Amino acid sequence: MFADIIIDITHEKLDKIFQYRVPEALEETLAVGMEVEVPFGMGNRLTRGYVVGFSETCGYDEEKMKEILRPAGRSVAIESRLVALAAWMKESYGGTMIQALKTVLPIRRTEQAKEQRILRRLISVEEGKKKLEEYLHKNQKARARLMAALLDDEEIDYSLVTKKLNITLPVVRALEEQKVLEVSFHQVYRNPVRETNREEKKPVYTKEQVQAIETFCRDYENGDYRTYLLYGITGSGKTEVYMEMIREVVRRGSQAIVLIPEIALTYQTVMRFYRRFGDRVSIMNSRLSAGERYDQMMRAKNGELDVMIGPRSALFTPFPDLGLIVIDEEHESAYKSEQVPRYHARETAEKRADLEGASVVLGSATPSLEAFYRCQTGSIHMMELKARTAGRLLPQVYTADMRKELSEGNRSILSKMLRHLMKDRLKKGQQIMLFLNRRGYSGFLSCRSCGYVVKCPHCDVSLSAHKNGKLVCHYCGHEEPTVNICPSCGSRHISGFRAGTQQIEELVKREFPAARVLRMDLDTTRSKEGHEKILAAFANEEADILVGTQMIVKGHDFPNVTLVGILAADMSLYAEDYRAAERTFELLTQAAGRAGRGKEPGEVVIQTYSPDHYSIQTAARQDYRAFYQEEMDYRKLMGYPPAKHLLAVLASSEDEALLEKGMYYLRQYGTALAKPRQVGVIGPASPHVGKVKDVYRRILYLKHKSRPILVEMKDKMEQYIEINKGFDKIRIQFDFDPVQVF
Ligand code: ADP
Ligand code: ZN
Ligand code: ZN
Repeated sequence: MFADIIIDITHEKLDKIFQYRVPEALEETLAVGMEVEVPFGMGNRLTRGYVVGFSETCGYDEEKMKEILRPAGRSVAIESRLVALAAWMKESYGGTMIQALKTVLPIRRTEQAKEQRILRRLISVEEGKKKLEEYLHKNQKARARLMAALLDDEEIDYSLVTKKLNITLPVVRALEEQKVLEVSFHQVYRNPVRETNREEKKPVYTKEQVQAIETFCRDYENGDYRTYLLYGITGSGKTEVYMEMIREVVRRGSQAIVLIPEIALTYQTVMRFYRRFGDRVSIMNSRLSAGERYDQMMRAKNGELDVMIGPRSALFTPFPDLGLIVIDEEHESAYKSEQVPRYHARETAEKRADLEGASVVLGSATPSLEAFYRCQTGSIHMMELKARTAGRLLPQVYTADMRKELSEGNRSILSKMLRHLMKDRLKKGQQIMLFLNRRGYSGFLSCRSCGYVVKCPHCDVSLSAHKNGKLVCHYCGHEEPTVNICPSCGSRHISGFRAGTQQIEELVKREFPAARVLRMDLDTTRSKEGHEKILAAFANEEADILVGTQMIVKGHDFPNVTLVGILAADMSLYAEDYRAAERTFELLTQAAGRAGRGKEPGEVVIQTYSPDHYSIQTAARQDYRAFYQEEMDYRKLMGYPPAKHLLAVLASSEDEALLEKGMYYLRQYGTALAKPRQVGVIGPASPHVGKVKDVYRRILYLKHKSRPILVEMKDKMEQYIEINKGFDKIRIQFDFDPVQVF
């Protein structure tokens, strides 16, 4: 037997795996992840390495192959567990071991660590309050914002101030000159909140919160490490519950990871954690340099941290004694990696927790069907928070039937209802958010008179209009000619669905010339801090109306927003994939959740051509369970996840003929394998971006109830591809339960 060993796991390249012979005496005991001692290099220097895999065949001259000396004999290092996790990821999601290791292990980069700047308040709270008054009086909004932050916390991280509060250097300099603050430098990453300044101002928890916290603590104390779903409507106090659970874990000497989608990682959220846990918390985000990232990871490994907060990649923080992984907004598609290995953070977190004896808490106001389904089947324990805190109510939701508006002669993007309510809010000086649902591809045809949408007769997803005048299904490849007249009502108002944020901005400015309008979409947020600038300006009430895409619906808290308009709710409803209804429900619920978060109650208008669709109706009633029932029935009927698993085989090549041929053979091979296993084979079809930058693409789908059977199919197909020369110029990736259309 032979073992694959990696020698230097912190090395930038990490791309060399060495084969060693396994001594007979070790054959039984050696396992993936174990640290071993091996002779290495010309002088056979004694070196440590990790076992990353085994093979029966020898990659080169067997005579020359060296032998493993012995296990390294230390207690199991954190690296061993991460290597074992990488092995599981390679096995479960496909790709190479190197790709999996690079995802999981902190890689050292030869970069200078940046100096950390800290802002410190020099004046007393009393003086600070006077200054705040003064700035507000002079309408110096940025100075006021900085002063307010410094009143909350005597010391703040400079990068947080610039990035999350949108405060520029001249503002900092001005306050420095006035001796309001000083700027100091730290070589290492330090906590922005001073120990003495920590508040323990916990609210009085609601009965539901207490119950969730107690259930967790009891199980944890008993060594019963489980997965929980904390299902609580927006603003029901989930973050408070996470923090109490973390406190318990930390009290027992273990550490916690909190995953939050990057877009929801706001200044407020970060500061809440800092205040509660002080300098033993760190955050990770995409703006950290590779060097800074590595430093963070080393601090975690060396026991300097208790809590790491960050997006998907923070899941691999090398804590020595991990106790808890929290995944906030677990339904977010950002938790799925779109690079090999195409892992899902939810599944991978559960695997890591399993390997290391930790618990997992998933939190959401709109749980993924996967998570809720597992609550129903009993493998996840559900905890529920049914009410918003402080007696705040969920907003009142109205649906505007845009078919009716059209028949009554209203051709505008705005319904009568929404226009009326907008006038009212502008008069009252309250703020409005207009959310244009642009999720998903707008290639489908829909009738503006009756709401009819052309769908695939086999797959029950929308057909997409292609340039060649055909309507195409992206699952099975079904084609039919396009239509100019609605097959259902005969109207000529059948077409693709198009509207842009810019158009809406212009229209709103025309209709409400006195209103101050801000727009937030990919165009306006392209610059480095554009995103936070716009949000900060809106939070400062420098605008009355914020027009934007899904970027504006996540996690933001604007207490003065009392009206949310959802334009083109149907856009995501008819995206051509099976998760369209789920995304729509989620987006509508999250968008609605933005209204009425302050003292005034909120109202929401959903504009739609499909007022009868269950996704729209249940979102309007904010009834997740009813949505779940309907959606689960559909998934069961069609055999889509989570009722069955779906394995997408994504193929791409510059040579279309070669790709066609390769996919033909792969399909033949797959079908032969599939038959005895009763696996369904669908396609190959061309995805909507069939050809991008001269690369052609095809997808094949495999469907089965059992994930292990699909993993077995993947392994066999991987081998088939490897030994057949015809696939040399075809790139193949596997994707389990895909969340995005390739
Ligand atoms: P979620 O994460 O579910 O959106 P948060 O934990 O952010 O909810 O809570 C929303 C707001 O309510 C926060 O300002 C939080 O401080 C506050 N809050 C949470 N729990 C309570 C409580 N039991 N009593 C009063 N306020 C609370
Ligand atoms: Zn029609
Ligand atoms: Zn189809």
